[in-house]
Amino acid sequence: MRVYQLAKKLKMSTKDLADLVSKIGIEVKGPLGSLSSQEVRKIEQKLVAKRKRAPRKRKKVSRDPVVTFLGHVDHGKTSLLDAVRKTRVAEREVGGITQSIGASEVMFQNKRIIFIDTPGHEAFTAMRAHGARVTDIAVLVVAGDDGVMPQTIEAIDHARAAKVPIVVAINKIDLDGADSDRVKQQLAKLGVSCEEWGGETICVEVSAVTGEGLDHFLEMILLEAEMLELGENPEGDFQGVVIEGEMDRQKGPCCTLLVREGTLRIGDMLVGDHICGKVKAMTNWKGERLKEAGLSTSVKVLGLSDVGRPGDIFRKVKDEKEARRLAQQALEEKRKKNLWKREQVTLETLYQEKEEETKTLNVIIKTDTQGSLEALGDVLKNLGSENVGINITHGGIGEINKSDILLASASNGIVIGFNAEITGENRNLAKEENVEVRQYRVIYEIMDDIKKAQEALVEPKYEEVIIGKAEVRDTFRIPKSGVIAGSYVTEGKVVRGSKARVLRGDEILGEGTISSLRRFERDVSEVSVGLECGVNIEGLNEIEKGDAIHIYEERKVS
Ligand code: GDP
Repeated sequence: MRVYQLAKKLKMSTKDLADLVSKIGIEVKGPLGSLSSQEVRKIEQKLVAKRKRAPRKRKKVSRDPVVTFLGHVDHGKTSLLDAVRKTRVAEREVGGITQSIGASEVMFQNKRIIFIDTPGHEAFTAMRAHGARVTDIAVLVVAGDDGVMPQTIEAIDHARAAKVPIVVAINKIDLDGADSDRVKQQLAKLGVSCEEWGGETICVEVSAVTGEGLDHFLEMILLEAEMLELGENPEGDFQGVVIEGEMDRQKGPCCTLLVREGTLRIGDMLVGDHICGKVKAMTNWKGERLKEAGLSTSVKVLGLSDVGRPGDIFRKVKDEKEARRLAQQALEEKRKKNLWKREQVTLETLYQEKEEETKTLNVIIKTDTQGSLEALGDVLKNLGSENVGINITHGGIGEINKSDILLASASNGIVIGFNAEITGENRNLAKEENVEVRQYRVIYEIMDDIKKAQEALVEPKYEEVIIGKAEVRDTFRIPKSGVIAGSYVTEGKVVRGSKARVLRGDEILGEGTISSLRRFERDVSEVSVGLECGVNIEGLNEIEKGDAIHIYEERKVS
């Protein structure tokens, strides 16, 4: 350990550390910076011995770190993960057959580190987009011969947006063309400054091929983890995140869960999103059957009703009835969202939010050239107002890609493209993830749109007023028009052209405009209370007998 690492561990500057050392009376020959690792360790031991130990009341126990590899394609993420696993895993599991369950464990200096098997920031952010924060440390792999590349920058932005600390691994140092200093300089320009240069980020040099630097790399991960003081309550409410899911022909749905809080035991009843079930069996990554799984353990779980998506969060509930009820509720919520209102951050909705605190619009920008990227970045930064700040989560050159959309989804932001294309596939993904993508060819239009949205803050607000209610007594399907609901007006009136919402029990089935209203085969413009009529609501053909129709107007609130 170097002196700056000790200072970081103790959360103080090197100067304060030097002051402390002299205050406590630890004798040091020469300046602190020139001490060897062994001497620094001795100082640490003395400092620890001198520190009065206050009894700890915390229930939390320290949790082992979960690590994900990010970085540009071909920079060696997979190789590095393999190299770490091979040297460390094989050593311990002589002859053991390990299974791929989405995460693997490595023991180093008697401590456990969990590595997520899928490298890359897309997988990392996709999990976050589904609600989970899985990774404690992001390892940014940069090839020493290639240096910082576009996906390196993306990876940094993804880690930052997730507020996950970065450890830099400069890989391929066995190659002649490798130049670590150049990489460090490039990173410094992006705001990632290495510790040796007085910065915050641990930076190590490694080779996945020769194995050089791997021990130091793992040591540094443990050091970073120690500084993070990861801890959860093993007796607290269970929370497990889906790392991987697969449908096994014989066993049925299999889900790998990483335990983030509490302890999972055989027989526990789980629910996560629309999936529920009792834990019938659990195996760890070595294929061993477990009766319980503690913090930071990943286990393949059998007994769930479906395969989860990475990032889904599972919790324990008391019994099957409760689990089924919650799963059903989640399913209905999903349907409701799809049918009715999609919750999406758009320029409009953002500025309509009423809360007084300053709102931040997270923006991902993609442009055709470096020049326009910088120009647009400046323009957007200047547009941030007192009420609405603008935060550029990521900026890059080229087409709007999958990773931009996932990042926008995970950070609740929007994507602005300036002369940047998007493929149909990615546009569909944006729709699925409820991400607004706006494309422009003129910079002033972007400014105009953002300003307009800001002005919308002072625009009048509307409130909904119910003007009538009707009860569906029968339905008829008419070719071309869709379903006509034969209804009885129970309150107020039904007005053609007004908005209507259909309810089944407490659930909202959908919304639309009343496109046709008839009484005895005749088109009418409105029908009053106590009368029967035939109603067609545009785009809503799922209406059934017994449903309720609420007719409403949106009125300006002065
Ligand atoms: P990924 O796309 O980031 O997962 O990169 P890979 O792990 O697939 O590695 C890309 C290529 O770089 C492969 O051909 C590896 O053999 C090679 N590679 C990875 N690490 C090293 C290294 O440390 N030294 C050398 N010389 N080659 C490496």
